[in-house]
Amino acid sequence: MKSVDRLVSAFRRFPGVGPKQAERLSIYVLRASNSEVEELVLALRAVKSSIKVCRQCYNYTEQDICAICSDKSRDASILCVVEDPQDVAAVEKTRSFNGFYHVLGGPISPMDGASADSVRLNELITRIKNSNGLVREVIIATDPDTEGESTALYLAGMLKSIVPKVTRIAYGMPLGGDLDYTDEMTLGCALKGRTEI
Ligand code: ZN
Repeated sequence: MKSVDRLVSAFRRFPGVGPKQAERLSIYVLRASNSEVEELVLALRAVKSSIKVCRQCYNYTEQDICAICSDKSRDASILCVVEDPQDVAAVEKTRSFNGFYHVLGGPISPMDGASADSVRLNELITRIKNSNGLVREVIIATDPDTEGESTALYLAGMLKSIVPKVTRIAYGMPLGGDLDYTDEMTLGCALKGRTEI
């Protein structure tokens, strides 16, 4: 494969990048100075070598425990369950939530062959049980699409017996959308209007 084609197909694997954009990005790299390209390569390498997942919530971090989990001023009685690390950032931007997070690592979709074992559900249950009753509410903030909905229902069924209150973020969010593409106002309202499920 020609080196330019190789670069184009590498960019094509980026989320949301179509063939035209991949070509445009490749041309940018071709025209960039050696030092710019070197910086890009170094940044990519640095991210892969220094970023790991938080031992507690599975968010991305450069430490063993992320900045959110280390923050003693946060409310340990509320746990917000999201699908991906980007969703943590999206909820944080709303400034409407001061509890802790649990990143599942994706939706639970039996249709795609993904079982509950492929996401961090057991870790979530263990975490709640180990909190010795400290966790009083779990907010399920999975994506408002079909998979996110079925994940929410499944989680609610699993968690109801071990936590006093299980809530789901309210709508007002675009259906079929992605949590991390939602503007902070909409997501903030959805958080405030969460309902018990
Ligand atoms: Zn964490």
